[in-house]
Amino acid sequence: MTELSDDELDRYARHIVLPQIGGVGQRRLKAARVVVVGAGGIGSAAIPALTGAGIGRLTIVDDDDVDRSNLQRQWLFRDDQVGQSKAELAAGFAGSVNPTIEIRPVRERIDATNADELLGGHDLILDGSDNFATRLAVSDSSHRLRIPLVSAAAAQFQGQVGLFRGWEAGQPCYRCFVGDAFDNDDCDNCADHGVLGAVSAIAGSFAALLALRQIADIGDEGAGKLFLFDGLSLNFRPIRIPKDSACKTCGGNDAQSS
Ligand SMILES: [Zn+2]
Repeated sequence: MTELSDDELDRYARHIVLPQIGGVGQRRLKAARVVVVGAGGIGSAAIPALTGAGIGRLTIVDDDDVDRSNLQRQWLFRDDQVGQSKAELAAGFAGSVNPTIEIRPVRERIDATNADELLGGHDLILDGSDNFATRLAVSDSSHRLRIPLVSAAAAQFQGQVGLFRGWEAGQPCYRCFVGDAFDNDDCDNCADHGVLGAVSAIAGSFAALLALRQIADIGDEGAGKLFLFDGLSLNFRPIRIPKDSACKTCGGNDAQSS
């Protein structure tokens, strides 16, 4: 595995001193290829977290441009950047924070027709897109490609984040949780219902935490649970998602995968 340079030893000193990460974990982060779907409210927290942590190769997929109404929660962007590409701006930000990593912006919208092409070749997918149709297309692709998926969403005062590896025996996929009713639902949750920026940032940071744990291989098993946060009640709770034997993505796969 690739060694760490003097710059990287300085940069990641507060990681390397953690016994659970150390030099081995930091090299795992450096070797990792992560794709972030969506440079919105979730991505605005997750992208800086992954960038700072030293994920070696980061792909940022978003076809959208910055709108003034995004700035309340999408803290990657400045007022004078309204109208510019989110993927390009997020990549520029990441490069200015951590010039040691490779960053690739992709100005495309992911759907079922191009998901495998855009997501293939990565070690982990972090999905912070804002609608069910995209999230389900990304989840189905992650299942086909057998790439661990961290799926994160926020609306109003609630955040929900989970790690899914549905091809493993007994493990659910994201569709086991959501079902099939939303494949054509491309409405923008934020535009419809509103969301507090601090809540989407918690969801994005938590998604980055699940991603870093998975890549560095630290902590208790986190897959197959959905972590729910409510900013009004201040409740935080994990719920275990049962594998749906009738799921059209992962149902009945146990015999092949075990
Ligand atoms: Zn499933």
